[in-house]
Amino acid sequence: MKKLGLIGGMSWESTVSYYQAINRGVNDALGGLHSASILLSSVDFAPIEQLQHQGKWDDMARMLSDEAKRLENAGASAIVICTNTMHKVAPQIEEAVSIPLLHIADATGKALQEAGVSTVGLLGTQFTMEQPFYTERLKEKFGIKVLIPNTSQRQLVHNIIYEQLCKGVICVKSRSAYIDVISALSEQGAQGVILGCTEIALLVQQSQTPVRLFDTTSIHAQAAVKFALSQNSKDRQD
Ligand code: GLU
Repeated sequence: MKKLGLIGGMSWESTVSYYQAINRGVNDALGGLHSASILLSSVDFAPIEQLQHQGKWDDMARMLSDEAKRLENAGASAIVICTNTMHKVAPQIEEAVSIPLLHIADATGKALQEAGVSTVGLLGTQFTMEQPFYTERLKEKFGIKVLIPNTSQRQLVHNIIYEQLCKGVICVKSRSAYIDVISALSEQGAQGVILGCTEIALLVQQSQTPVRLFDTTSIHAQAAVKFALSQNSKDRQD
């Protein structure tokens, strides 16, 4: 089994979900007492969140590249960044290491294609919803059209992520607000909605809406399991 190098802590609430999902996935495949081989570099999220809102992405690229190099030097066979937003600096991280980076948007694009979804809604931070690094990748690599919520809905979704979900606060009112946004995206033609922030599945589950949900935490964790159990490094996420 290959050793996975996780960059987590953004927030740690969702890194818990990754740790659990990857271990469960490996155990489902191998049985017995098998569990995943993981190196975890969990960062302090407070300075990262400040840099995000100041737009200092180069600083964050350097910080996360250093974490990725540490994981590579410690024996990781691949890097898994446990957040959608920080994939904005995935290209710089990929440059810094010689092991593959398992990109969350690629795993998600593949899951959408397999589900036959060509128009999808996206919930996430404003960075993920509004900047091209995520939506354009889905469009260019997978031919998927991405619908995003309107301005006030985007603000609401974003604020709930930072003020509640990243702090482990789960609020019924926020859940119904998210479900309303999901329904609106569906009414606009989305065949499904990407939970494009790794904390959203802590708030909204599939049983609470008829709209098909694509939880990036679960999808990304499954891609990581597949890589870990693959026979050679060329297998990556394919
Ligand atoms: N974990 C979240 C995401 O998937 C938000 C926190 C962050 O900005 O990294 O985007």
